Amino acid sequence: MAQGPVKLKPGDTIGILGGGQLGRMLAMAAARLGLRCQVFSPDPDSPAFDVVQAATCAEYADVEALELFANDVNVVTYEFENVPAATAMVLAARRPVLPAQKILETTQDRLVEKDFVSKLGIGTADYADVSSVATLHAAIARIGLPAVIKTRRFGYDGKGQAIVRDGDDIDQIWEDLGTKSAILEAFVPFEREISVIAARSASGQVECFDVTENEHRDHILKTSRAPAAIPDALAAQARAIAEKIASALDYVGVLAVELFVVPGNGAPTVLVNEIAPRVHNSGHWTLDGASISQFEQHIRAIAGWPLGKPVRHGEVVTMTNLIGDDILSYEQWLTVPGATVHLYGKGAPRPGRKMGHVTEVTPPRKS
Ligand code: AMP
Repeated sequence: MAQGPVKLKPGDTIGILGGGQLGRMLAMAAARLGLRCQVFSPDPDSPAFDVVQAATCAEYADVEALELFANDVNVVTYEFENVPAATAMVLAARRPVLPAQKILETTQDRLVEKDFVSKLGIGTADYADVSSVATLHAAIARIGLPAVIKTRRFGYDGKGQAIVRDGDDIDQIWEDLGTKSAILEAFVPFEREISVIAARSASGQVECFDVTENEHRDHILKTSRAPAAIPDALAAQARAIAEKIASALDYVGVLAVELFVVPGNGAPTVLVNEIAPRVHNSGHWTLDGASISQFEQHIRAIAGWPLGKPVRHGEVVTMTNLIGDDILSYEQWLTVPGATVHLYGKGAPRPGRKMGHVTEVTPPRKS
């Protein structure tokens, strides 16, 4: 269906696919701007259901439910990148879907994504397509060890990937991965990991937040710090990369680009690891640490409203994820001076489950 540019008015409704904490925080940002949200999720315990008046609890393959949902909303967005293509197609035939469906085809597949980034002339780890144990051996011969093998699709938080080291049983690693489509990446000896959260409007305006530095524990983001402790020139380079990617995708909304900082010739440089076509955990600090949050920027972009120019509050902002049993200490966090506590309203604290986060803003230095 041909659709003109989206221009929502206060009171209009945004449909959000996915009911996790990202959907919840998107809906809260929309509410502050006078916009309503309807959340679509198959999980009856979705944390995002708690903050919206209208919810659809149905499977993503339920065409009738999708059609009814589309009828209720003015525009559709999503909080996770693995939206099934058929789901996006049913919705896109009825309502604008932003970011556009074709973006999912690039970002759902690590090989397609890496090819896309490389064609833009942006550096990534050396990589190879792997579809059998024979091609894995050939890829190792070319790329060398250590290396990281990753399934092309459906990997997150370290799932669907393994480090391959000298002396490992390659055939066993391939069997354990349990897929026929993977990529092998050179292991990057990174100095640090950073991310850029960028917003792009339909008219092509791009606004990036301060580059964020991220530390993972057990493959899951544990803390973020903004700004990243990197030279200004490198931060500018990282932001330029995010802008180039957003523009090349003709992207509307917020996206995150995860990068590795690696030693370069004289000065450090960056390699792109991954693109997330959505708001991102490493941008949670913007809720309390900037004049406009990543969630509000995303809502503004998909509503066809002008983006804000985000200004960071304070010298340094840190964000600490409350993962699994970390949540049991929430009352202690409530007493920490200057800390802002966010709890996602999830049920049991399973290991690895993101239950909430805490932001701390260091006041500006007095000059
Ligand atoms: P990913 O699922 O690709 O975001 O990877 C999760 C985490 O694994 C990253 O944040 C890195 O800490 C680590 N990692 C992924 N790929 C590589 C690589 N090629 N070299 C070194 N570490 C990696």
